[in-house]
Amino acid sequence: MKTLKEKSVAGRTGIETPKNETGAKSSLPENILRGKLELPENSIINVARHFHNLAKRNYSVLDGIYPLGSCTMKYNPTISEKLCSNPLFTNTHPLQNAGEVQGSLEIMHTLQNWLGEICCMDAFTLSPAAGAHGELTGLMIIKKSQGDGRCEIIVPDSSHGTNPASAAMLGFDVKQIDSNPQGLVDLKKLDDVLSEKTAGLMLTNPNTLGLFEEDILEIADRVHSAGGLLYYDGANLNAIVGKACPGEMGFDVVHVNLHKTFATPHGGGGPGSGPVGVKEKLAKYLPAPIILENNGKYSLETPSESIGRVKAFTGNFGVLLRAYCYIKMLGGTGLSKASDHAVLNARYACEKLKKSYDLPFTKPCMHEFVLSARKQKHENGVKALNIGKRMLDYGIHAPTIYFPLIVEEALMIEPTETESKESLDNFIEVMEKIAQESKNNPELVLNAPQNTPVKKLDDVKAVKEPKLK
Ligand SMILES: *Cc1c(COP(=O)(O)O)cnc(C)c1O
Repeated sequence: MKTLKEKSVAGRTGIETPKNETGAKSSLPENILRGKLELPENSIINVARHFHNLAKRNYSVLDGIYPLGSCTMKYNPTISEKLCSNPLFTNTHPLQNAGEVQGSLEIMHTLQNWLGEICCMDAFTLSPAAGAHGELTGLMIIKKSQGDGRCEIIVPDSSHGTNPASAAMLGFDVKQIDSNPQGLVDLKKLDDVLSEKTAGLMLTNPNTLGLFEEDILEIADRVHSAGGLLYYDGANLNAIVGKACPGEMGFDVVHVNLHKTFATPHGGGGPGSGPVGVKEKLAKYLPAPIILENNGKYSLETPSESIGRVKAFTGNFGVLLRAYCYIKMLGGTGLSKASDHAVLNARYACEKLKKSYDLPFTKPCMHEFVLSARKQKHENGVKALNIGKRMLDYGIHAPTIYFPLIVEEALMIEPTETESKESLDNFIEVMEKIAQESKNNPELVLNAPQNTPVKKLDDVKAVKEPKLK
């Protein structure tokens, strides 16, 4: 297939630099004036076909189940897209003054409040552009409020890589603690690392194994008694909306991934949004701006001891708007029901699949679960990677693999609430079939994928001879 570029080389048009309005010669020096402008020439249908063909190679939740654990790849309602493309929103400019964009500010203010209610937090900023950015923001708040003496952040060994990375970026020493045999925080090991140097503990609940940390109140007590703060990584909030909230579990700071729990798009790395919420005592440190309301008037304000700005303007407004639409559409009851179904779907798939794959941690899962392909690897040399690739042959997106790190040959599966029983059954059937193939015809799985536009890649060659352009 010829690329757009190759096709367009054939014909080019020279467009003369337009004179300015009066026709007078420009006062700018000749050497910086734009010369001939050459635009590529192509027919509209060719361009449309080019992008349509590219789009067909993509895989999205509109093509099928997207069981990428930890990512909450749920359906993003099309109605939100429609509402957001209203010119009343798309024609606003971030440099307009607050008086001219009261409606947009009201929406953001409402969203701050709703997230506060969902998380039991007293104040929220909508600025951060992703979960990891929220972590950085939240940890900056912890750092500022704790002072320099407290220089350690504790993370469990099941934590997402961004947790220790965010802490390290801010100069914290990262103390990692091993999980207990049930896959939960080990209280004894927590006690061992708590000290007058502890700035805080970062935790996901349910954790990355999909298990609810049932000792959370005790954990919070112990961290607080040692003078530390608790940071809630909200990536797994989809499991508990309307059931439990981080604020009541004892967390002081949270981030929420709007592109996970609140159904905003997150393909291709963004734009995302990772609002951060805090308890009252930390509200004065929030980054600027936060949106306040006074007698029905909305304004952008800087908290008294703000850590500063973490993002231009007010964050990714288009994403905030979609999350607002989603919350408004579902309401409290709908959000809570979504969590019910997210957990139900994961438990159903887990119950079925634990017969074909190992399930290292057996406590009932929440919205996701982690299987191990260690049996397949040790018996037939088929690894989690091969299983993931084989799924592509059946037209299904692979789950997250090799995370969390504490599970050998991890397959991390999160169906989300938006999959039907038929779709789940099809997914389960494919995974069972691959388990069979791994036993009876391992070569088939080891050489996958074969039905995709790009066949099995030579990973070793790619590492040894990377083509970076
Ligand atoms: C996705 C995720 C993050 C990071 O969030 P981004 O929005 O991708 O930056 C952090 N922790 C966990 C557990 C996650 O799943």
